[in-house]
Amino acid sequence: MEKNIPFIHSKEKKTFPGFPAFVPGSVWLVGAGPGDPGLLSLLGYYALTEADDIVYDALVSEEILHWANDKAIKHPAGKRGGSPSAKQVDITEKLISLATSGRKVLRLKGGDPFIFGRGSEEAIALALAEVPFRMVPGITAAVAGLAYAGIPITDRHFNSAVTFITGHEAGGGPPENLDWRALASGSPVLIFYMALKNLDWMTKQLIKSGLDGETPVILISKATTEDQQILETKLVSAAMDVKMSKLEAPAIVAIGDIVELRAALDPNALPHTRAVAARKIISSREIK
Ligand code: SAH
Repeated sequence: MEKNIPFIHSKEKKTFPGFPAFVPGSVWLVGAGPGDPGLLSLLGYYALTEADDIVYDALVSEEILHWANDKAIKHPAGKRGGSPSAKQVDITEKLISLATSGRKVLRLKGGDPFIFGRGSEEAIALALAEVPFRMVPGITAAVAGLAYAGIPITDRHFNSAVTFITGHEAGGGPPENLDWRALASGSPVLIFYMALKNLDWMTKQLIKSGLDGETPVILISKATTEDQQILETKLVSAAMDVKMSKLEAPAIVAIGDIVELRAALDPNALPHTRAVAARKIISSREIK
């Protein structure tokens, strides 16, 4: 992926007219986006310049943390470089104790905090402790990853629904209790998070439940970062292809005909190649 032009962040005090006050004694639960620092929201950036403490997950990019104010204390709360992951209960206790001591606490999570990110558990713990908090969404890996790969997550000629699924339940196993028949027949686009480990099991469930083995599949690893990697495959061979590839977590897996749009919209393809593919798609779908 091309390198972004560096964003010059000055340490001067900024003002954000009209922005909500970051009140001492409160917690902001903020989504940092999937990797590209440019995908952080302005509310998230403002929170970084204001926060006294920043409790951040492993999936939050380093560059974003550089935008914190100089006095902020940074608390890692996720697995990075082999150190063990903090326990959820310890994280929520830390948020509560920092806030009740009058600090402005920024809880920064990868992607969107409320999509398979346990942001909800933290918000509930804060509500129980009567700690004021604000929920600031972020761009989730599926939406950003597909866009960066050249795939719109919906197109009215392809899909009128999209489903986000976790490939990994709390205990580590696949989501066995989902209605796989309903997924196979009812949702034209399926997007799996945390899917690498249980991919074989899940793709087999979908095929057993009637989804065509030829359905296009795309895996996007480290989406929106300089290390982004893409693997295009089909349902029947996805698990084997991933095994043979060097694709690493974190990755999202998208399944559905929408993946075909990449031929016309891949940001790295030549304009002429894209135009030829776009014409083909338009005529095959009878798009006016
Ligand atoms: N709250 C996050 C998801 C956390 S669950 C969000 O909204 O994006 C962790 C999973 O998210 C990973 O296993 C992977 O499936 C996905 N993920 C997070 N960041 C990613 C990235 N940069 N590229 C691809 N997948 C990513």
